[in-house]
Amino acid sequence: MKRIYTCFLILVLLLCGGCSYGKTQNENASSSCDIFAMDTYMTLTAYGKNSDRALEEAENRINELDKKLSTGSPDSEIALLNKNGSGKLSDDTLYLLDKSLEISKETNGAFLPTIYPLMEAWGFPTKDFKVPDDSVIENCFSLFDTDLINENKKEGTVSFKKQGMKLDFGGIAKGYTSNEVIEIFKKSGIENAIINLGGNVQTLGKKPDGSLWRVAIQSPNEGDEYLGILEISDKAVITSGGYERYFEENGVTYHHIIDPKTGYPADNELVSVTIVCDDGLLADGLSTALFVMGLDEAIQFWQNHSEMFDVILMTKDNEIYVSDGISDLFSTTYEMNVIER
Ligand code: AMP
Ligand code: MG
Repeated sequence: MKRIYTCFLILVLLLCGGCSYGKTQNENASSSCDIFAMDTYMTLTAYGKNSDRALEEAENRINELDKKLSTGSPDSEIALLNKNGSGKLSDDTLYLLDKSLEISKETNGAFLPTIYPLMEAWGFPTKDFKVPDDSVIENCFSLFDTDLINENKKEGTVSFKKQGMKLDFGGIAKGYTSNEVIEIFKKSGIENAIINLGGNVQTLGKKPDGSLWRVAIQSPNEGDEYLGILEISDKAVITSGGYERYFEENGVTYHHIIDPKTGYPADNELVSVTIVCDDGLLADGLSTALFVMGLDEAIQFWQNHSEMFDVILMTKDNEIYVSDGISDLFSTTYEMNVIER
């Protein structure tokens, strides 16, 4: 079923021909564009006079960031740094490093940019999946310490103090990218836009008719159309779930969001975490972190940072917890609990 779905998506992309630019546009114009980048399908839609040109610029920027940040492309900045243990980084990559360290600190290490050796041990980058031996996991723990990342801001260089350390921006790269796309739109004079980077949505302004965007949040449950609908403007809506990438061995499912404390895929009450925030990068980092934290800690984290973001959590029992900042804007057929400040 999954393969048929993927083929269908590829067919749609081929038929749509990705993006085409260059038409003359009036005030009421709109442009839409499908891209495959960062290992995911993306759709960008912008409204207004310069939407064509803005989409072209956005597509170029996405491809530029993909080339820099993809751990899987052997000649990306991040792959070279991971291979050599040191390297000169562009401003984009240095910015992501600094932001990821901030989020790591704020989330008490639930978000951990040095997780990559463990991702490799589980076989996620190569899809050669395996449950690592305890000794392998122990060795990865010794490569986690973010204080062993040496950054020379003046030179723009980074090196690891311990051999084998590696970085992974998979948990925030798409959020940074959606921020960058929205910035390009703003600079092009676009006032209404919605972008979807593999289920991670970011909106600019409202819909052209002045109503709020209706964002459907993906459900972890197969056969379910969506988990709920959120009405918003000017926000990123970013979801993490184990269902996005996983493998099965001996009847056990292992997914791609790893708890740095256990070395195993985060295993708690949560099956989905959605963060709603002005800042796509922060939303992305926090969606991964709160998924690792589990229900109680995630609720507490939101209560301590309620001015920064809102959250929609779903548990294994199909219960939904929504923070009170957005509870009036969210509708679902599941049982819903409002998290108070
Ligand atoms: P997301 O879908 O945004 O939650 O990101 C998941 C991706 O982040 C994974 O595929 C890994 O590349 C990376 N990752 C997994 N666990 C962690 C973690 N605890 N901290 C930071 N990044 C992680
Ligand atoms: Mg994330």
